Amino acid sequence: MSNNRSSSSKQLPIMEHFFTIQGEGFHTGRAAYFIRTAGCDVGCVWCDVKESWTSTPDQLMTIDAIVQEVLAVDAKFVVITGGEPTMHSLVELVNCLHENHIEVAIETAGVHSLDAPIDWYCFSPKKFMKPIEEAYEKAKELKVVINHISDFTWAEEHAEKVGETCQLYLQPEWEKQDKLLPLIIDYVKGNQKWKISLQTHKFMNIP
Ligand code: SF4
Repeated sequence: MSNNRSSSSKQLPIMEHFFTIQGEGFHTGRAAYFIRTAGCDVGCVWCDVKESWTSTPDQLMTIDAIVQEVLAVDAKFVVITGGEPTMHSLVELVNCLHENHIEVAIETAGVHSLDAPIDWYCFSPKKFMKPIEEAYEKAKELKVVINHISDFTWAEEHAEKVGETCQLYLQPEWEKQDKLLPLIIDYVKGNQKWKISLQTHKFMNIP
């Protein structure tokens, strides 16, 4: 059934891949095929996908096989996430998806250089590893997870460095949402360049 015009036997370590709804940030509510690469060197203490930190040989998938999975469900939008997806060369995967007219977003902590012509760069900086300058230049969306009241100041430091058109989001850490969300609501009322991002996929009980 494929209309895939290119072919690649290059492999990437993939922890999981699934068709779902993007639950957070700018593309919230949009059908999206998630490709979660294996491997992360950032080490956030509150990480909810710690099983993505390492990769094993049995997780290797060819780019052809990944793209075929996306085409099989006729997804129009792909989100490459992790783990930390910029640990890998993604140019062939993104080019193959583009050749099939599929829009591609990445969610990254911005700690390594990205070698692929991505359509939407969601930059989610983490305190556990300093981002590189490229992340601020490429960011179309800055999504800062608020885990502590001091994180508002930290979020502003990043917002000062991204481009003028970058969309700015504050997202409560899921486990502390009850305590932090009222603070974030007040903060956004007083600092209206920011919007709130919630992990709506968790409310919908989908991956
Ligand atoms: Fe987990 Fe993402 Fe942090 Fe890596 S960057 S430790 S995958 S939250």
